[in-house]
Amino acid sequence: MMENIEQKLISRINENATPLRIMHVCGTHERTISKYAIRDIISEDVQLLSGPGCPVCVTPVEDIDFAIELARSGKVITSFGDMMRVPGTTESLFDARSDGYDIRMVYSIDDAIKIAKDNPTLEIVFFGIGFETTAPSNAAALLRGVPENFSILTSHKLMPPAMEILTRDTNLDGFLAPGHVSTIIGTEPYDPISEKGFPIVVTGFEALDVLLGIAMVQNQLETGRSCVENAYPRCVNVEGNLKARELLYEVFKKTDSKWRGIGMIENSGLALKKEFEQFDAVNVHADIYKRLHEKKASESDNVDGKNGLYEECICAEILTARAQPSQCPLFGRRCSPEAPVGPCMVSLEGTCYNWYKYRHNKGI
Ligand code: SF4
Repeated sequence: MMENIEQKLISRINENATPLRIMHVCGTHERTISKYAIRDIISEDVQLLSGPGCPVCVTPVEDIDFAIELARSGKVITSFGDMMRVPGTTESLFDARSDGYDIRMVYSIDDAIKIAKDNPTLEIVFFGIGFETTAPSNAAALLRGVPENFSILTSHKLMPPAMEILTRDTNLDGFLAPGHVSTIIGTEPYDPISEKGFPIVVTGFEALDVLLGIAMVQNQLETGRSCVENAYPRCVNVEGNLKARELLYEVFKKTDSKWRGIGMIENSGLALKKEFEQFDAVNVHADIYKRLHEKKASESDNVDGKNGLYEECICAEILTARAQPSQCPLFGRRCSPEAPVGPCMVSLEGTCYNWYKYRHNKGI
């Protein structure tokens, strides 16, 4: 039955194919597309572009460097595993841990809080990354109360402002909007983007979901419409998760934020509100933050000119759909999941990682 529906969707997409550029902004979408070779089973005219949907990929190098500097200064850094492998200016958190600094992998903010409670003489910093999906649980933890020796280095990002920026200088026809993020924010925040003429379809993560999303974007374009449609109603509604959003904005406020490989995007990040600044690692460890920035200002390193990327790494182009991983001279040569040069090769959600895992063995 499912196979039948999939086949019908593939036929529908291919029979109506005209040159289209559809972007997704979700690492899990890239995983599904690469794993099920969706680019290979639909018409070449319908291009599926990967945007900045991998949270560790867009975490700015400055935040990684600050986390490493905190560890070097005797603080305990707690972080998700993926984040530990992403290269900073000179090394990753994982490299710093190999040098003997106290950097611990956690699965949630609650693990980090437990470490703080169990070790009252140590100062614990949780590296908080991710989009609208992960920030509410961090907000809830701060509202429940955390020990005094705990702080958070917040590097959260908001997706709609990044999508809006991408419509300005990327030649796009429409978006598959991220299912996970949309469970929290709902479909409304995409309205201003669709009103500019970009069809948007909130899409789930099965191959069938992705095919349906593509067909629905295609249908909007064929019928001269651009609106927000929901192809993932089993998890997403118009207003999103109101409780999660309430928690989020009780603790955080929107702020301008730097995206690795892209640069500063207005109102695209989250900062702790004044009432919670005693848990903001930048405030708590302001001396270390200032020292690091003074040091950086006096040095010229090899990543600053490309928004935190190494000279030959083209993650900036990949995150903005101006290039594909196979166009990078390092892809599968000097850069692989075992030895990532850039952030897009680290995480299960990274575009280079997924192309390497699912496409490289096909000579791509
Ligand atoms: S293959 Fe590696 S170096 Fe090239 S763009 Fe991807 S992450 Fe960067």
